[in-house]
Amino acid sequence: MHHFTFRDGELYAEDVSVKAIAQAVGTPFYLYSASTLQRHIRVFDQSFSGLDHLVCYSVKANSNLAVLRLLAQEGAGADIVSGGELFRALKVGIPPQKIVFSGVGKTREEIARALKAGILMFNVESLGELRVIAEEARQQGQKAPIAIRVNPDVDPQTHPYISTGLKKNKFGLSVEKAYEAYLQARQDPYLEIVGIDCHIGSQLTQVEPFVEALQRIKLFLQRLEQAEIKVRYLDLGGGLGIVYGQEDPPPPKEYAEALKRTLEDFTGTLILEPGRVIVGNAGILVTKVLYVKEGAEKRFVIVDAGMNDLIRPALYGAYHEIVPVRSTTDQTEVVDVVGPICETGDFLARDRELPKVNPGDLLAVMSAGAYGFVMSSNYNSRLRVPEVLVYKNKFYVVRQRERLEDLVAGEEIPDFLR
Ligand SMILES: *Cc1c(COP(=O)(O)O)cnc(C)c1O
Repeated sequence: MHHFTFRDGELYAEDVSVKAIAQAVGTPFYLYSASTLQRHIRVFDQSFSGLDHLVCYSVKANSNLAVLRLLAQEGAGADIVSGGELFRALKVGIPPQKIVFSGVGKTREEIARALKAGILMFNVESLGELRVIAEEARQQGQKAPIAIRVNPDVDPQTHPYISTGLKKNKFGLSVEKAYEAYLQARQDPYLEIVGIDCHIGSQLTQVEPFVEALQRIKLFLQRLEQAEIKVRYLDLGGGLGIVYGQEDPPPPKEYAEALKRTLEDFTGTLILEPGRVIVGNAGILVTKVLYVKEGAEKRFVIVDAGMNDLIRPALYGAYHEIVPVRSTTDQTEVVDVVGPICETGDFLARDRELPKVNPGDLLAVMSAGAYGFVMSSNYNSRLRVPEVLVYKNKFYVVRQRERLEDLVAGEEIPDFLR
């Protein structure tokens, strides 16, 4: 459920006309709905009511400060994967005690900063990382709270680039290695075992892989218990999918119920790291048609947003629904919607039946709130686009469009070329 709806044939975000925003800020731009974000985080959180749980929003899905602040105000914690995300999470006032730190390549500096901040736990992904965390903790004269990320080897049945819980993936430790890691951690006076973690992938549209992963984690916990290792936190990661087109993912309630049933007698706190399911359908990308071009075999709608602004179609072959911001005709045609970038992979849609459009028309690329702006780049020296947040009948520019000076900030021509 989201708050992007048509009124008299014109697209509105909550109570604001999308066209009016486009006139004010220019195109392209990302547009988020605050009421949708609120609704999503509340529905997700309430699905787990009755269970001791903590929702740590996965910052990488959309890390705009305004989005983070809204979620923080709703009581969400944060799942971070870098020092930059730690900086953002702290900046918006997320309590360190609600922050978990994931990722296979945490640097010593990032680890040191997270330790100083006093985060809830490190989700450790290798024995090497465990050692570095212990060393940093010793230097700071404290104990580092850790969970080991277990790779449960279950198939999430999603796109291979976003599946993370298979043996062949780089993430986590196999059950055997993880056991070894726990034994090592127990011996270390500077490590405190507080949890266990797994995350099997993204855009999952079935509950079964989650349940299977949780079952394997529970078996593993029994083994830990036999070694007298107890954990307080069971972090099941994120990954719940959303509707982009024809998908039929389980609603949060169904997902939560399945997990509750599988958890049974677990007495600690369940941690969840949802990203996409919170922000995905709370955002759109608004772009303008520049040209309509008849190719030899295809008709191209060339728009002012490219793969540098939204890379998901190019990277994963992802589907995003595209709708005209103002519907003017019932006539449709099959087109490729492409950007201005000099790459054949630069498309937003291929062989798509769309209402006939003309230069100057606005198009909305739907479900672009997750892994949209955050994955954007300056490729082709294009300015990164603004992010706008709508709440009820007002809109706020929550990130300015970049300026030409931003493009070259930090670049320098060395003396010998002057
Ligand atoms: C990306 C990621 C998430 C969020 O995944 P979604 O599919 O957006 O819910 C959660 N946890 C970890 C460790 C991740 O890498």
